[in-house]
Amino acid sequence: MDDAIVIGSGPNGLVAAATLARAGWRVRVLESQPRPGGALYSLETTLPGYVHDVGAAFFPFAHFSPALQHLHLDELGLQWRSGVYESAHPAPDGSCVSIARDIDLAARSFGADGDAWRRLAQWQADMGQRLPDALLAPLPGMRPALRLGITNLLNLAMAGISTSAGYSRRLFRTEAARRVIPGLSLHVDLGPEDFGGAALGLVLALLAAGGGFQVPVGGARAITDAILKRFDDSGGQIQLGTRVESIVVRQHRAVAVRTSAAEEIPVAKAILADVGAPALYLRMLPSESVGGWVRQSMRNFRYGWGTFKMDWALSDPVPWLSEEARQAAVVHAGDSIDDLIQFTNEARAGALPSNPYLVIGQQSLLDATRAPAGGHTLWAYSRVPSQLPDGWAKHREAFADRIEERIEGLAPGFRALIRGRAIFAPDDLDRMNENLVGGDLGGGSAQFTHQLFWRPVFPYFRYRTPVKGVYLCSASAHPGAGVHGACGYNAAQAALSDQK
Ligand SMILES: Cc1cc2nc3c(=O)[nH]c(=O)nc-3n(C[C@H](O)[C@H](O)[C@H](O)COP(=O)(O)OP(=O)(O)OC[C@H]3O[C@@H](n4cnc5c(N)ncnc54)[C@H](O)[C@@H]3O)c2cc1C
Repeated sequence: MDDAIVIGSGPNGLVAAATLARAGWRVRVLESQPRPGGALYSLETTLPGYVHDVGAAFFPFAHFSPALQHLHLDELGLQWRSGVYESAHPAPDGSCVSIARDIDLAARSFGADGDAWRRLAQWQADMGQRLPDALLAPLPGMRPALRLGITNLLNLAMAGISTSAGYSRRLFRTEAARRVIPGLSLHVDLGPEDFGGAALGLVLALLAAGGGFQVPVGGARAITDAILKRFDDSGGQIQLGTRVESIVVRQHRAVAVRTSAAEEIPVAKAILADVGAPALYLRMLPSESVGGWVRQSMRNFRYGWGTFKMDWALSDPVPWLSEEARQAAVVHAGDSIDDLIQFTNEARAGALPSNPYLVIGQQSLLDATRAPAGGHTLWAYSRVPSQLPDGWAKHREAFADRIEERIEGLAPGFRALIRGRAIFAPDDLDRMNENLVGGDLGGGSAQFTHQLFWRPVFPYFRYRTPVKGVYLCSASAHPGAGVHGACGYNAAQAALSDQK
């Protein structure tokens, strides 16, 4: 019998599985899809030879996450590449401000706000590894928080109670610099005027300045392959195409999982679920094992917005007006704080954004293996309503055209380079991976009411659930979205410690 079953093979599931297997447990991963990796994988979605990341594409936690560090993936041949600039923020008026790991280069790009950026980057350098340690530790995480120091904690707490618009206006003088942090906060459902929305944008800016927005050679799937190799080396097994329907509980303890094929697979010690919190609490666990309050909050669980994602096969690199954008790993389209506020209001009102905010990844600029010789790839997403009154099918092509128009405005000549494109509306993402409910890429909203002790629901913020031996290890748990593996690692540590 297996000691542990991990349901789902996203990065959190695989990190959990590898952590347990390396501790000597017999571990089996059950994955419903025919391929592993969840939102951490790459496929040729446009044309043969063009490798596109299906979800996560750049990795600010690549070198800083303790969960990934302990797997020593670099020893397995995982290689990283980075751009001259990490994150460029151009506007159609030709202005552009960019974050780079080189402080002088970034300070020059920030122009009149160069000194303000220098202070921020120096702050990041002083905190070093202590920042990700504190962000990714299980709560309450007193030790890593204390190591960070009171002044740093207070400075971060200021961002934690600020809107990204307010924080940026206090920090920077120029409009170009002011759009950077709100643009980064909008990776998730945090608009410029949302309470507490500055924290994520600030953290992403600091991480970009520190480790950068790195990409792995060969595509995001290279990370999945490396974690799987670690898992395999420790005797772990993965079973693809096996969907778990429910968890069998006897005498308040999990004893098996039941698959869609009605197979019951027994387990000796623990089940770790790399699934959305509502799927675990409302569907997989027997209702009598979950308190009424928890079930009620799961019925009201708030997801983030939908995601509209595109891939392109290009004949040349994107001809950005901004020279810095031509050398950046990631480009953000968001002209000003007002533009981002309008975008947020439209998405929140259920309308298709008229001027879609975009996160754009230029992986092939950094990693030549992504495209055939001379060719290039491009990856982008916007945030959108999860559903439209008359469905996504009618709107996907037209919205994709709108996204291309927006890029064309920043890079005239872009459309002429397109050899192929692939479109993933929220319902496509949902079908690809059932954790991406309504196209939400974060495993639940990132609003402050869904963070820390409330993620996914109080008092189950430490991966344990009301059922002995069952742990939530997906991005629905603290610290949430992103490829850091911390949800999986922390859940695995909880399971190991409960068996001691
Ligand atoms: C378009 C997009 C862009 C993103 N960009 C970035 C980025 O650039 N950088 C970054 O750090 N993060 C990014 N993210 C977020 C990041 O990918 C996720 O936070 C991360 O993948 C979450 O990992 P996970 O293991 O919790 O879940 P997932 O990666 O979602 O994996 C869950 C797995 O569980 C499986 N599963 C679910 N239910 C069952 C079941 N009942 N039985 C069996 N298997 C099941 C699913 O099939 C899936 O394989 C992006 C996400 C998306 C969608």
